[in-house]
Amino acid sequence: MTRRISIFGATGSIGESTFDLTMRAGGPGAFHTVAVTGARNTARLAEMARALRAEVAVTADPGCLADLRARLAGSGIEAAAGPAALVEAADRPADWVMSAIVGFAGLPPGLAALRHGATLALANKESLVTAGPLLMETARRHGATILPVDSEHSAVFQALTGEDIACVERVIITASGGAFRDWPLDRLARATVAEASSHPNWAMGQRITIDSASMFNKALEVIETREFFDIAPERIEVLVHPESLVHALVGFCDGGLMAHLGAPDMRHAIGYALNWPTRAPLPVARLDLGQIGRLTFRDPDPARYPALRLAREVMATRGLAGAVFNGAKEAALDAFIAGRLPFTGMAAVVERVLARMSAQSGLGNADITLDNLCDADREARALARECTGARVD
Ligand code: NAD
Ligand code: MG
Repeated sequence: MTRRISIFGATGSIGESTFDLTMRAGGPGAFHTVAVTGARNTARLAEMARALRAEVAVTADPGCLADLRARLAGSGIEAAAGPAALVEAADRPADWVMSAIVGFAGLPPGLAALRHGATLALANKESLVTAGPLLMETARRHGATILPVDSEHSAVFQALTGEDIACVERVIITASGGAFRDWPLDRLARATVAEASSHPNWAMGQRITIDSASMFNKALEVIETREFFDIAPERIEVLVHPESLVHALVGFCDGGLMAHLGAPDMRHAIGYALNWPTRAPLPVARLDLGQIGRLTFRDPDPARYPALRLAREVMATRGLAGAVFNGAKEAALDAFIAGRLPFTGMAAVVERVLARMSAQSGLGNADITLDNLCDADREARALARECTGARVD
């Protein structure tokens, strides 16, 4: 039977790689594509929808609907727009759904896909950070499967195959250290958006690239590890590994360490999720370790990467703390990109928002419902904007 697939965030970095793999696997001959979604790049979205012969193409921006419709004219492909249309697209049953929207906006469609029992290939780590227990419980209740599509988490998942989670002593996720790993600390405050947007090893969307430089990305990933694998925070470690070839290691109670290595190419993690539970050949470079010669590791410097400490606070509080952390981080990142906040100001703002909202009662005990998460997200963004001097709307 032809597999029904949907790609949320198709026009982004992960989306493009997913599109590439599905086309290589036969495109419309191999899959029935239900939905592809994007935001303002309607030209590319329409092109992908036509190539995969999707049922529907959705733009997140209602202002782009007329343009998308015009680009799809004569194809028989439906066009839709806005957050509700994204959820509606996720309500159309599919067997395999790529969740590759960036940010909190990826959560509602992901939840909808899980309610229909889909296999959710989860690149949108913000979903697990903000709503881990809700996401995992929704999957359990509806017999759905979540497969991690972060290179580190795919690596851990693969290292854990056939293992008993009770025998896991620790999980080590690696970090390249980002664009500024070797900068003098006192220069960080003056780092520009262009400098923060260039990653030494991975080609990714701009937001996650800047989050790699600040290690907010790794902070999100530590929480993602905690939520996805249900591993106690003190068992999760971060290791700086500038070569980005070892993606993660799992340490077992007998002292054995299983490492996962591969080229820094997201098509491995995406392809693994696409082919799971089997494996199939993928167009990624093969490592020649003899040529590479050596791999290096070091502990992260807490002064350079305060985001890692904040992640520990979030895991200690739980509840809505992840939504507050992520919302404040997204708003602080917006402010940095807009030139309203220095690079080092992002962690300072997130810390202030977390402290203010943690002082309110109930952050750790509140029910994790979509409504409560949206409220926490909204409030955290508003507070962060206040801290950065932006107009609060
Ligand atoms: P990207 O910015 O390249 O693409 C994001 C996609 O989401 C685009 O299709 C964009 O149109 C869409 N989008 C943006 N804002 C939206 C909104 N408000 N509503 C709906 N759609 C919206 O991002 P990316 O680098 O591909 O990352 C996507 C997700 O995958 C993120 O959660 C990121 O953390 C995660 N991830 C990415 C990588 C990577 O290598 N790029 C690796 C691991 C995890
Ligand atoms: Mg990652």
